[in-house]
Amino acid sequence: MVWGVGLRRGVERFCPECGQVLVAGRARCGPCFRRVENERRMCTERAYYRRVCGVGFRPWWLYPEDYEGQGK
Ligand SMILES: [Zn+2]
Repeated sequence: MVWGVGLRRGVERFCPECGQVLVAGRARCGPCFRRVENERRMCTERAYYRRVCGVGFRPWWLYPEDYEGQGK
């Protein structure tokens, strides 16, 4: 018997974002994983541009929330 296998059987894990049951070995479900990855990547990009271009540099493609609700 391999240690851990018996213990894990029947223990379902859930996505911390939406509560969906997960595939074994995954930390999040597919949609949430992609969303979190995207946010993480955006955080990295924001930090980079803030360092290079200054705090006032907020283009729409990096800070879409800044431009929401401003007419088209
Ligand atoms: Zn999810």
